Amino acid sequence: MPHKGRKGGAHDERTRECRVCGQGKKMLFRCKWRKDQRQWDFVCRVCWPSVSGAESSRHATLGSDGMALIPNTHYRYGGTWKAVIGDVPPDD
Ligand SMILES: [Zn+2]
Repeated sequence: MPHKGRKGGAHDERTRECRVCGQGKKMLFRCKWRKDQRQWDFVCRVCWPSVSGAESSRHATLGSDGMALIPNTHYRYGGTWKAVIGDVPPDD
């Protein structure tokens, strides 16, 4: 995602907006969760359970094994977006 020079680029800090809560976050899951959803959307860890139907965002990155734990059959995981590579927030 080579988007540089976003508005007000005085900071190094990059955030991306969560599709659900609209807040800028440093880490989001790229996924689809709605029927007939064509484009990937980004959702934060807090909102992830509400789009997937799963209880914990810990299931988000489990791949095909984790999919069995996700009640929303429309859910597809497309990767994790991080503002800073290698700087992963601790799991709760
Ligand atoms: Zn959110």
